[in-house]
Amino acid sequence: MRTNVIAGNWKMNKTNAEAVEMLTELKGLVKDVEGVKIVIGAPFTALSDAVKAVEGSNVEIAAENVYPKSSGAYTGEVSPTMLKAIGVKYVILGHSERREYFCETDAFINEKVKAVLAAGMTPILCVGEKLEDREAGRTAQVNETQVREGLKDITAEEAKNIIIAYEPVWAIGTGKTATPEMAQETHKEIRDVLRSMFGAVAEEMVIQYGGSMKPENAAELLAQADIDGGLIGGASLEAASFAKIVLAA
Ligand code: PEP
Repeated sequence: MRTNVIAGNWKMNKTNAEAVEMLTELKGLVKDVEGVKIVIGAPFTALSDAVKAVEGSNVEIAAENVYPKSSGAYTGEVSPTMLKAIGVKYVILGHSERREYFCETDAFINEKVKAVLAAGMTPILCVGEKLEDREAGRTAQVNETQVREGLKDITAEEAKNIIIAYEPVWAIGTGKTATPEMAQETHKEIRDVLRSMFGAVAEEMVIQYGGSMKPENAAELLAQADIDGGLIGGASLEAASFAKIVLAA
């Protein structure tokens, strides 16, 4: 019933030329894949060329951030209108690196979710607990707060077009992956929160897993009932490894 969404997050990596080279290779590797949505999150500078590079293929492009106003005196920022105008389809929001290094709060992330929806793109809302939260038994509580606050005032109709990425912070870029059972347990808790907010729409909502997902562990994670895809950092930088994850889905 839900379509797996496999999304890469390049973070602050790749020049335009490198982006186009990777996407050209990736397109060839995944051209026969059906029934999986394939997305690459690229830095702002590469977005325009990235969109052109995947034109006519089954790969779509995400931005990794946005400012929640359509235009104005916000020096250095990029608006949802600008992203939409160049053909960006998804925006990654609330990544733990943005929460930590740029002090993004749930309220600010909520403004971004609304702005991205209003511009007609799909937000990928990242949530996840830190190691100290997990060790203190606060995993469910932390994720519930981030989901509820990040999706505050969102309607069930709007929620149909929102993706949640569950990314345990302790598993991002560390090589440590949540076991499939551990990830499934948290995905189920998150879906329970979504059900209490949006009713039956929760069954349609994609919840991706992120945190050191790679070709070797993707199939097992993606086989879990409430895991509907992945948000992939390190293993999305090379076309071959990312394509293997797509094929595992
Ligand atoms: C991420 O940054 O969203 C991520 C999951 O990174 P990695 O796959 O490298 O752990």
